Amino acid sequence: VPEERNSRLYDGNLMAAKAFAKAGVAHMFGVVGIPVTYLATSAMKEGIRFIAFHNEQSAGYAASAAGYLTGKPGILLTVSGPGAVHGLAGLSNGMINTWPIVMVSGSSVQADVGKGDFQELDQMEIVKPFVKYAGKAKSIREIPTVISEALAASLSGRPGGSYVDIPSDVLHETLSENEAEKLLAVVTEIVPSWTNASNPKELKVSEDEVYEAVSMLRHAEKPLVVFGKGAAYAHAEDAIKRLLKITNIPFLATPMGKGLLPDSHPLSTTAARSVAIGESDVVLVVGARLNWLLHFGEAPRWSKNVKFILVDICKDEIEFRKPALGLVGDARVVLQQIADAVKDDPFTFGDQHPWLQKLKKKASDNIQKMATSLAKVVVPFNYLTPLRIIRDAIAAEGSPAPILVSEGANTMDIARSVLEQVEPRTRLDAGTWGTMGVGLGYSVAASVISPERLVVAVEGDSGFGFSGMEIETLVRYKLPVVIIIFNNGGVYGGDRRPAEDIVGPHKDDPAPTSFVPGARYDIMMEAFGGKGYLAGTPEELELALKESFAARKPAVINVIIDPYAGSESGRMGHRN
Ligand code: ADP
Repeated sequence: VPEERNSRLYDGNLMAAKAFAKAGVAHMFGVVGIPVTYLATSAMKEGIRFIAFHNEQSAGYAASAAGYLTGKPGILLTVSGPGAVHGLAGLSNGMINTWPIVMVSGSSVQADVGKGDFQELDQMEIVKPFVKYAGKAKSIREIPTVISEALAASLSGRPGGSYVDIPSDVLHETLSENEAEKLLAVVTEIVPSWTNASNPKELKVSEDEVYEAVSMLRHAEKPLVVFGKGAAYAHAEDAIKRLLKITNIPFLATPMGKGLLPDSHPLSTTAARSVAIGESDVVLVVGARLNWLLHFGEAPRWSKNVKFILVDICKDEIEFRKPALGLVGDARVVLQQIADAVKDDPFTFGDQHPWLQKLKKKASDNIQKMATSLAKVVVPFNYLTPLRIIRDAIAAEGSPAPILVSEGANTMDIARSVLEQVEPRTRLDAGTWGTMGVGLGYSVAASVISPERLVVAVEGDSGFGFSGMEIETLVRYKLPVVIIIFNNGGVYGGDRRPAEDIVGPHKDDPAPTSFVPGARYDIMMEAFGGKGYLAGTPEELELALKESFAARKPAVINVIIDPYAGSESGRMGHRN
């Protein structure tokens, strides 16, 4: 019986749980076991919802997505050694996507370090590349400070990862309630108030900088606004909407920036992306890195003379990219400043402006082409036919719009241009690293954080397979998540090897890209008491979507796709 049960004593587990609760943490994601099981139960007693997963990898992805969706650090709890190693997947994912996440792990008894203790590992060392802060509580007294510093660091400036290490002996150490409560007071001092408008992440820029930005946009011939998931994280949608309304500047959303403004917005250039990127001369980039997803901001994809105005919370990012103008600040605040400045001395690019006309023409041609392809009913299914049916089912949900989770090579690539995003922060995808296996963790987090929204995950069978067991988690917590699996029997689908590659003593083995054809993922879901559907025709898919969306219960729809419908590496074949 842990000593925390004695109301006069706090042990390290309870101390940690109290610190998180006092900081306003509402959810924790993780896998329990020695030595952190009582940390999880203590957290639940303190009013924190603990979501227990099968693998720390998915729990970590969930915590990172929770950080993005709430703007507060997502919390990942792991056991020592291998648990912490699995947790690195989520920690690094948060760090690379610039989402706040705090990983908390138990570790070996301090006195036994170096002797080969149970699950012994120098966890402080292994987290280094993926955190802004790592702290070890060497005694129970240090727990509140380390947790507070970790929470604050994950949120400050560019959001990212933090790590809290609590050795087993510290988790079992005890203190009197009185003394413990005094130590816990530090939490409210260090952790910034998350609802406070003077939050340090809301940084402004100077009037001169605003003036410079406005002047560049005003004198542009082919202006463009690009926004990404940093703008979504900053809730910049209203400010962006206002700026575009006054100026009529066209915009391009990055994949996870989609939804800040609806894809169907008349100024959206999603369907004319290559022209928008290839010809624009002054580009206001808000909360999006000029990384591979934006072709590094370089020619030949961008025009040679393009001038970038970068708005980013991270000074290093701006210094590294060397834009024509860099504005270090919070996306929402800076965009409000720019919109205010334009309002005082307005300018606008009329609908007849040749740049807008060109983009509109290109977009409408492409939309027309896509509509023609979507109108064809192809069975056995290609990608477009089921995606069109799914698009219509999601649209029929109205508001609040479902959260779309999207991963897979062909499945994600093709779905991105078919499925529409109409509300901010309703898309979670493979992100900056193009990570596969995030889907189930993201789905759990999205549903826990936004219970009012249906969650629809459109997954390749390979992406699903990384963490398929977490469908049990969906059933256990009764989460309204519908997982739609595009089942083409493998990574990229059928065996694409030329005959000369199928030689040698193991030539009769399946291709490295193959899975069991026709795998019944729907039956797997039924094994846990969820609802499973198998869909190979439009009628079957329509019925499955209608039923599962209405039921608001965990479901898997196993959509059988022609194994040769996609291409190797999706649309990134040039990198393989
Ligand atoms: P995308 O994948 O959508 O292109 P990225 O992840 O590459 O977006 O870029 C997000 C950027 O947003 C990061 O450089 C990050 O520093 C920045 N960012 C994060 N929070 C804010 C904020 N509150 N205001 C402005 N920029 C932010």
